[in-house]
Amino acid sequence: MMKAAVVNQNHTVDVIDQELRPLKANEALVKMEYCGVCHTDLHVKNGDFGDVPGRVLGHEGVGLVSQIGADVTSLKIGDRVSVAWFYEGCGHCDYCVNGQETFCRQAQNAGYTVDGAMAEECIVVADYAVKVPAGLEPMAASSITCAGVTTYKAIKVSAVRPGQWLVIFGMGGLGNLALQYAKNVFNAKVIAVDINDEKLALAQKLGADITINGRQEAVVERIQAVTGDGATAAVITAVSKVAFNQAVDAVRATGKVVAVGLPVETMDLSIPRLVLDGIEVVGSLVGTRVDLAEAFAFAAEGAVIPIVQRRPLSAINQILTEMAEGTISGRMVIDFSMG
Ligand code: NAD
Ligand code: ZN
Ligand code: ZN
Repeated sequence: MMKAAVVNQNHTVDVIDQELRPLKANEALVKMEYCGVCHTDLHVKNGDFGDVPGRVLGHEGVGLVSQIGADVTSLKIGDRVSVAWFYEGCGHCDYCVNGQETFCRQAQNAGYTVDGAMAEECIVVADYAVKVPAGLEPMAASSITCAGVTTYKAIKVSAVRPGQWLVIFGMGGLGNLALQYAKNVFNAKVIAVDINDEKLALAQKLGADITINGRQEAVVERIQAVTGDGATAAVITAVSKVAFNQAVDAVRATGKVVAVGLPVETMDLSIPRLVLDGIEVVGSLVGTRVDLAEAFAFAAEGAVIPIVQRRPLSAINQILTEMAEGTISGRMVIDFSMG
């Protein structure tokens, strides 16, 4: 038996004892050490993408392999691996073989379509579980498993080059890592936008060139004033269409708007703005196994330092409430050694 955080019909989470099914030949059993709480867990809990009662949450998991199936060659007992949102692809479709595996139509997602990492133990498909490098502290690694790789990939998609202006909307769990990757890996100039002064103070500490509070300032006008003719690109991690609409107005002609946040809303997109100014609007979904390995490597080198706080599994509903209220700085991480 193991303790697991399971979504129920009433859109809350129960921490209950569960039995795991037997391992298949291509799978491994992971004894979880840490699992970060992502805003996507809050969406899943609330049924924003459809109800999934009975599902074990969690896709920022890190743990140690304790058992392997008969056919497993890529992992051995004792390896430290991650449990990410991209849990498995079909392995042979166009997306899978062209470096776009997260968009595989058969993809499974941990903590959403299959049971995830917010449990004392988790089953993974061995070839899809990305190893955590030795030099990276496991609690920090949990944040890279979703927040880190997602923002690292989104900045890649933005194609921003050194010295160019990137606006990041939302300075929460994803946003603070987006800022660190943007500054310390991509060498961009960064404007950080949030509606909470505490998060903007953190952004300033982490090296943001400009911070803007969207509740107190005219966001688009300020960005235009700072950049001259608009930012080269924007990455939106905010969970509000307000930020998506501001992003479209904040980029320069031919600028790129990279959508990451998942508010269940529709954004405005003026067709003349799109066509006459040649802007691009594109979604970015977590990252491939290779993206995750790269994101881990930069964290292991110290280029990004996740801001994490440990909590017991029993605090999961409280953490999700704090997340909905917007009071969390950085990431809350379930530490399974706290019971
Ligand atoms: P979070 O709650 O930690 O952070 C959200 C931040 O947005 C907060 O700091 C909040 O103050 C800020 N915000 C809210 N309204 C704003 C506005 N109008 N302007 C600027 N900032 C605003 O959440 P998180 O864990 O960082 O996740 C953010 C979003 O990204 C969620 O919707 C989550 O589901 C999504 N997500 C997407 C992917 C992907 O692959 N695309 C991966 C992980 C998470
Ligand atoms: Zn996530
Ligand atoms: Zn596929």
